[in-house]
Amino acid sequence: MSRLPKEILDYSNHFKHEYAKIRAAIKRYDKIVIYRHIKPDFDAMGSQMGLYYFLKDNFPEKEIHFVGDNHVSFTPRLFPETERLNDEWHKGRNFLAIVCDVGDKDRIADPRFAKAKYVVKFDHHPFKEEIAKVSVLDRGAASAAEIVADFCLSWKGMTMSERAAENFYTGIVGDSGRFLFSSTSAHTFSVAQELLKSGIQLSKIYQRMYEKTLHSLKVQSYVLSHFDVSPHGVSYYLLPSKIQEELGITTELGKENVNMFSNIKEINAWCSITEDPSPKDPCWRISIRSKEKDISGVAFKWGGGGHAQASGARIDDLSQLDAFIKDLDDLFA
Ligand code: AMP
Repeated sequence: MSRLPKEILDYSNHFKHEYAKIRAAIKRYDKIVIYRHIKPDFDAMGSQMGLYYFLKDNFPEKEIHFVGDNHVSFTPRLFPETERLNDEWHKGRNFLAIVCDVGDKDRIADPRFAKAKYVVKFDHHPFKEEIAKVSVLDRGAASAAEIVADFCLSWKGMTMSERAAENFYTGIVGDSGRFLFSSTSAHTFSVAQELLKSGIQLSKIYQRMYEKTLHSLKVQSYVLSHFDVSPHGVSYYLLPSKIQEELGITTELGKENVNMFSNIKEINAWCSITEDPSPKDPCWRISIRSKEKDISGVAFKWGGGGHAQASGARIDDLSQLDAFIKDLDDLFA
């Protein structure tokens, strides 16, 4: 293999103790399950599936699985149906759990990760609780896929197949906002460059990730006619259940148009606010994005969390809307 870029050598050297322990665990266990967060996005699925294929390709003799809920539109267009492992399978507990892109128990898409004999984690979310024996946590990384790909690329003697690289690349593009967020670094580009060497076709990946339908234009048109902007440049649009029905979209798709506001001069942060009528936990789900300021503190205050430029939050009902928008607006006053 050709020599890796300095950024990858430095990064993998920084995590060399963690990487060594995780590599030893991967070699030690015959059964491995890879996990990610609930309500998955490109990065959750890209980091999980990239690692899945990497391990399948390099350790064909091992039993390797990926689990979690399917995505309403990514499955099966971008990622395969997730696997189902029953309780019987978990009984022996003799497996390794690898958790990608999530740090708190409640957000891991299958709680049975806790049944594993050994748990390791790759993440870039703020630390909440210890869930793993070994953690590779880099809050500054643009995506979890960037970290996991670094781990794989720097593992001597292993190969990075096109299918593994394609998934990692998808995660990196997704969570770096197509290399636009300020978390994008020289390391992000170095990892992307190495992944490109596996023969992936960028146009194919971008087409699959961002393909729109004529129907989606109808939704965009609704959003553009119904958004509001706060005094200091926070834009937001509401999608009540009734409107979702009229537009023919599901709650999960409510945030799809949030980035329509990303390049507007007068807008500093932008949100989609989508009613989730699920009987167990009715609320309005909020996706927040920001040009520069860190919005994760506001997201945390409002029942969520995430990253400086991309976070999730919630309000219980519309009586809280003004207070939520004011908290965001105050960041730019
Ligand atoms: P979303 O707006 O749902 O796409 O979320 C944006 C980012 O924030 C993703 O990286 C999510 O993983 C993260 N995020 C969303 N909700 C939460 C939460 N409740 N706790 C921690 N991170 C979150």
